Amino acid sequence: MIWSKEETLPRGELEKLQNARLQETVARVYGNVPFYQNKFKELGITPHDIKSIHDISKLPFTKKQDLRDNYPFGLFAVKQDAVVRIHSSSGTTGKPTVVGYTKSDMDVWNEVMARVFTMCGVNSEDTVHNAYGYGLFTGGLGVHNGAETVGATVVPSSGGFTSRQLLLMKDFGATVLTSTPSFALHLAETAQNEGYDLKNDFKLKCGIFGAEPTSEGLKEEVSRVWGIKYYEVYGLSEIIGPGVSNSCCESKDLHIFEDHFYPEIINPETGEVLQDGEKGELVITSLTKQALPIIRYRTGDITSLDRTPCRCGRTHVRMKSVMGRADDMLIVNGVNVFPSQVEHVLANIDGISLNYQIIADKKGYLDILEVMVEVTEQMPLDSIGALEKLQKDIQAALLNNLYINAKIKLVEPRSIERSMGKAVRVIDKRSI
Ligand SMILES: [Zn+2]
Repeated sequence: MIWSKEETLPRGELEKLQNARLQETVARVYGNVPFYQNKFKELGITPHDIKSIHDISKLPFTKKQDLRDNYPFGLFAVKQDAVVRIHSSSGTTGKPTVVGYTKSDMDVWNEVMARVFTMCGVNSEDTVHNAYGYGLFTGGLGVHNGAETVGATVVPSSGGFTSRQLLLMKDFGATVLTSTPSFALHLAETAQNEGYDLKNDFKLKCGIFGAEPTSEGLKEEVSRVWGIKYYEVYGLSEIIGPGVSNSCCESKDLHIFEDHFYPEIINPETGEVLQDGEKGELVITSLTKQALPIIRYRTGDITSLDRTPCRCGRTHVRMKSVMGRADDMLIVNGVNVFPSQVEHVLANIDGISLNYQIIADKKGYLDILEVMVEVTEQMPLDSIGALEKLQKDIQAALLNNLYINAKIKLVEPRSIERSMGKAVRVIDKRSI
């Protein structure tokens, strides 16, 4: 099932729609947002220079810092009376970033999230257990509204209270779980400890996971322990929230709803636009947003694009699952290392869990890397020989696959701190 006809538009027609919508967006920001008007003037361009989507590279980038500098509402293109919803980031560094929605923006958000649920085969017969956090974070409410739009029954459980969540999932007969992948694993682990039979006590058929970069290994683990199909949703509040793209039944790659969000891939160092298939930073321009239209927003997420036809019938471009953050990338003695790559290597080794932490430090002029990883319950911690062999195997696998020389520290199960939301995978002591 496909929710709307825009998802299958022939590429030519899609491009016509994008051309018209880009021109409207550019006119809107130029006329209503002084920040963009100044940027356009600095570059010597006016809205008349943008005639089609191919002119998009003439436009300036927008960075997260620009939202902070214009805190709270400086980038809004409408007056306050047209805004019906505000969301905000947690603001762990500096001021939070604030985003706003008009009624029409809310319609777009519900529409793209309805496409997401339909893409995952979810309809009015399903019960969605929504464990994304509710509140200022866009995850909870974004997913909630989309599930209601397709007529599903929503259980707005939010995060935390793991034991009670399991009870509700079982008793209410949840068929769909929506959460971060690490919380899905945490739920599974708690369920096992509490004596549930994961495959028979629950009716789950699929999960829609997102909000953190996730390796293939971790996805397979979530899918395996719960016995469900894994779908991935991608989004960020600066663009709309969850619902920018989603994986379909035929592909692990994610269709970007490009009638609303126009994607480009750039070289994060130079800003140069890269070709389809090349890996770089994802940049998105909103094409229909009213309250906070955003031009060439640098997401910081590393991925690549694929415009070849998909068997599901959708014509929208697909992006690879995010491989890492442009700013999460560690450079260790000149080698680029993404946490997700390390995780992928760890996933293929028996005897360890996927709970790990990468610690980068300096010794003299050289970078040193330590990977701390939990062994599984089955691993005999008193067998020095077995642990030493495991350490050597992990070290060799990292060296052979990623060309990094790391010290391996094996620790007891559940000894690395876990968070409900986004796990801290990297500690870079070099920058402290
Ligand atoms: Zn598809």
